[in-house]
Amino acid sequence: MASQSFWPVSHRDDDFWVCMSCLGEVFFRKVPMPDCPSCHGVSTYEGFTLDAIRDWGTEELIAKAVAAQAASAAAQPATESAAPVEAAD
Ligand SMILES: [Zn+2]
Repeated sequence: MASQSFWPVSHRDDDFWVCMSCLGEVFFRKVPMPDCPSCHGVSTYEGFTLDAIRDWGTEELIAKAVAAQAASAAAQPATESAAPVEAAD
Protein backbone atom coordinates (compact mmCIF):
# COMPACT_ATOMS: atom_id res chain seq x y z
CA MET A 1 0.00 0.00 0.00
CA ALA A 2 1.51 3.28 -1.12
CA SER A 3 1.91 5.99 1.44
CA GLN A 4 -0.49 8.89 1.28
CA SER A 5 0.69 12.09 -0.38
CA PHE A 6 -0.46 15.56 0.57
CA TRP A 7 -0.62 19.09 -0.68
CA PRO A 8 0.53 21.47 2.03
CA VAL A 9 -2.01 24.20 2.74
CA SER A 10 -1.15 26.86 5.27
CA HIS A 11 -2.01 30.21 3.77
CA ARG A 12 -5.35 30.77 5.43
CA ASP A 13 -7.04 30.78 8.79
CA ASP A 14 -9.07 27.67 8.13
CA ASP A 15 -6.40 25.19 9.09
CA PHE A 16 -8.52 22.07 9.14
CA TRP A 17 -9.44 20.46 5.83
CA VAL A 18 -12.50 18.22 5.89
CA CYS A 19 -13.79 15.96 3.12
CA MET A 20 -17.28 17.27 2.42
CA SER A 21 -18.15 14.07 0.61
CA CYS A 22 -17.68 11.50 3.37
CA LEU A 23 -17.18 13.85 6.35
CA GLY A 24 -14.92 11.17 7.76
CA GLU A 25 -11.49 12.59 7.02
CA VAL A 26 -9.84 15.73 8.35
CA PHE A 27 -6.28 16.95 7.97
CA PHE A 28 -4.35 19.82 9.48
CA ARG A 29 -2.86 22.31 7.02
CA LYS A 30 -2.74 19.79 4.20
CA VAL A 31 -5.05 17.88 1.90
CA PRO A 32 -4.55 14.36 0.57
CA MET A 33 -3.70 13.93 -3.09
CA PRO A 34 -4.86 12.91 -5.58
CA ASP A 35 -8.10 12.07 -3.81
CA CYS A 36 -9.75 11.40 -0.46
CA PRO A 37 -8.31 8.20 1.10
CA SER A 38 -11.76 7.21 2.36
CA CYS A 39 -14.23 7.97 -0.42
CA HIS A 40 -11.78 8.79 -3.24
CA GLY A 41 -13.55 12.05 -3.96
CA VAL A 42 -11.50 14.65 -5.81
CA SER A 43 -11.46 18.28 -4.69
CA THR A 44 -13.92 17.48 -1.92
CA TYR A 45 -11.93 19.16 0.83
CA GLU A 46 -12.96 22.46 2.36
CA GLY A 47 -11.20 24.46 5.04
CA PHE A 48 -12.64 25.01 8.51
CA THR A 49 -11.53 26.26 11.87
CA LEU A 50 -11.43 23.84 14.78
CA ASP A 51 -14.30 25.78 16.35
CA ALA A 52 -16.42 25.16 13.28
CA ILE A 53 -15.66 21.46 13.34
CA ARG A 54 -16.53 21.29 17.02
CA ASP A 55 -19.80 22.94 16.08
CA TRP A 56 -21.04 20.41 13.56
CA GLY A 57 -18.54 17.56 13.47
CA THR A 58 -18.99 14.11 14.93
CA GLU A 59 -17.03 13.15 18.02
CA GLU A 60 -14.82 11.04 15.80
CA LEU A 61 -14.15 13.88 13.38
CA ILE A 62 -13.34 16.30 16.19
CA ALA A 63 -10.98 13.77 17.74
CA LYS A 64 -9.28 13.29 14.38
CA ALA A 65 -8.88 17.04 13.96
CA VAL A 66 -7.29 17.46 17.38
CA ALA A 67 -4.98 14.51 16.77
CA ALA A 68 -3.98 15.86 13.37
CA GLN A 69 -3.10 19.23 14.84
CA ALA A 70 -1.08 17.63 17.63
CA ALA A 71 0.78 15.42 15.19
CA SER A 72 1.58 18.38 12.97
CA ALA A 73 2.83 20.43 15.89
CA ALA A 74 5.03 17.57 17.04
CA ALA A 75 6.44 16.99 13.57
CA GLN A 76 7.43 20.56 12.81
CA PRO A 77 7.56 22.85 15.83
CA ALA A 78 7.08 26.52 15.05
CA THR A 79 8.32 26.51 11.48
CA GLU A 80 6.36 29.61 10.64
CA SER A 81 8.09 31.88 13.11
CA ALA A 82 11.73 31.11 12.47
CA ALA A 83 12.84 33.93 14.70
CA PRO A 84 15.69 33.33 17.14
CA VAL A 85 14.51 32.02 20.49
CA GLU A 86 17.13 33.99 22.38
CA ALA A 87 14.95 37.12 22.24
CA ALA A 88 13.06 36.09 25.35
CA ASP A 89 12.24 39.16 27.42
ZN1 LIG B 1 -13.93 11.57 1.63
